[in-house]
Amino acid sequence: MIDLANLSVTNLVKLYDYDLFELGSLADDIRQELHNKKVYFNMNRHINPSNICADICKFCAFSAHRKNPNPYEMTKDEILSDVHSSYNRGAREIHIVSAHNPNYTYEWYFDIFKTIKSKFRDIHIKAMTAAEVDFLHRKFNKSYEEILGDMKDSGVDSMPGGGAEIFNKEVRNKICKGKVNTVNWLKIHSIWHSMGFKSNATMLFGHIEKREHRIEHILLIRELQDKSGGFNAFIPLLYQRHNNFLNITDFPSGIEILKTIAISRILLPNLPNIKAYWATLGINLAIVAQEFGANDIDGTIEKENIQSAAGANSKKGMSKDDLISQIKDAGFIPVLRDSMYNELEFFN
Ligand code: SF4
Repeated sequence: MIDLANLSVTNLVKLYDYDLFELGSLADDIRQELHNKKVYFNMNRHINPSNICADICKFCAFSAHRKNPNPYEMTKDEILSDVHSSYNRGAREIHIVSAHNPNYTYEWYFDIFKTIKSKFRDIHIKAMTAAEVDFLHRKFNKSYEEILGDMKDSGVDSMPGGGAEIFNKEVRNKICKGKVNTVNWLKIHSIWHSMGFKSNATMLFGHIEKREHRIEHILLIRELQDKSGGFNAFIPLLYQRHNNFLNITDFPSGIEILKTIAISRILLPNLPNIKAYWATLGINLAIVAQEFGANDIDGTIEKENIQSAAGANSKKGMSKDDLISQIKDAGFIPVLRDSMYNELEFFN
């Protein structure tokens, strides 16, 4: 095995040369040590208030453009009604991520969070990617500190990990030029962590990036986590191929995907959870990934607009019973968790 204390990209990229099962076994040792046979999931609801976007990321099939000519803006009543119905079905996390809608006022966001919190006190609001924070910063000339302070005051409990895409500047310029840059993505999460809050981190892979770029990305997350300890989970998001402008024809194999998840587990010993997000991997591969370092598959979601617009089979979410039976069938213990990874219920 290569020297894992040598944190150079050139050294660590050699992990990909190992046999899948050798890597999987190493990742699984770390996973078992931390989580044994538990696989976490939660009861959550994704809400994407609008797909009208001021940015033009080439990999995006969600925003309204010529391949997706169906712009929408949800009203506050529609958002509240979705929260209400999901709450009644047991969801306790509302995950709100929007396109960067230039029609919204600054207050629009915070009014929504405040209203949800005032009506559903035990709901956890996970909202505002660093890309959205940066968009508000650019559009309304507010500092990151001020925006994050307003998020805190209006009831946001944690931040999702979106907008990280791939940190390498050259690749980033090709796939999402204009959106938050790497330094600022990390800075925003760092400030949020310093305020005592948690967030997640993602990495979009399987498009034009190379293995080296993934390693570089993971190491930047590791570095910030060493300083702040504020990341709950790392989520390698598999690029979805349809309805976008990247025109990729060469997709990663199942082996490459599992190696990437295993390497994430191995290179992030300081980060407690690796999520195999079923909405991008598909439920079958997400379950297999639990043998290769992942310990979480996300949750019921209920309605998913972003990945499904690009071809993922996640539009209607998945029922709690289905998640439990899929996890059990694979020989793991399903554990219902809250948004902070407190264990709520075991399904032995
Ligand atoms: S990924 Fe987000 S910021 Fe980029 S175009 Fe799509 S909705 Fe807009």
